[in-house]
Amino acid sequence: MMKDARNNCLFCRILRGEIPSRKVYEDDHVLAFEDINPKAPTHVLVIPKRHFAGLKEAQAADAELIGRCHLAAAEIARQRNIEKGYRTVLNVGPDSGQSVFHFHVHLLGGRRLSWPPG
Ligand code: AMP
Ligand code: ZN
Repeated sequence: MMKDARNNCLFCRILRGEIPSRKVYEDDHVLAFEDINPKAPTHVLVIPKRHFAGLKEAQAADAELIGRCHLAAAEIARQRNIEKGYRTVLNVGPDSGQSVFHFHVHLLGGRRLSWPPG
C-alpha cells in the first residue's frame, strides 16, 4: 500500500476526521456514515478502517473486512427497520460508477428497489 493512496483517499480522510461525515455506526474494524448524495431514504456507506481500493484489488487477507462491512450493513438495516427490502451494493471499476477507490458497501433501502439495477 503506497502511503500516498491513504493521504489523498477521501474515505481515509473521513476516517482521520479531516473531512466531516454523519456517522451511523463504528467499531474497531469498520465505519459507517451517511452518503452525501443519497439515492434512497437510507443510503449509508460502510468502509473498512484499513484502506484497500475495491473488490477487484481485494486479497484473501481482506476477506474478514469485506464480511464485516456487510454484517455492519445488515445491523444498520435491522436498526432502521428496513428489512422488508434493502440492497447492499459494491460498485467495481469505473464503468460501474465507482468513484472512490477505498472499498465501500452501499446500503440502500427505505423504498422499493427496482431490479435489475441500471
Ligand atoms: P461509488 O460511486 O460506489 O464509488 O460511491 C462513492 C459514494 O461516495 C457516492 O455515493 C458519493 O455520493 C459518496 N460520497 C462522496 N463524497 C462523500 C462525502 N464527503 N461524504 C459522504 N459520502 C460521499
Ligand atoms: Zn482509503
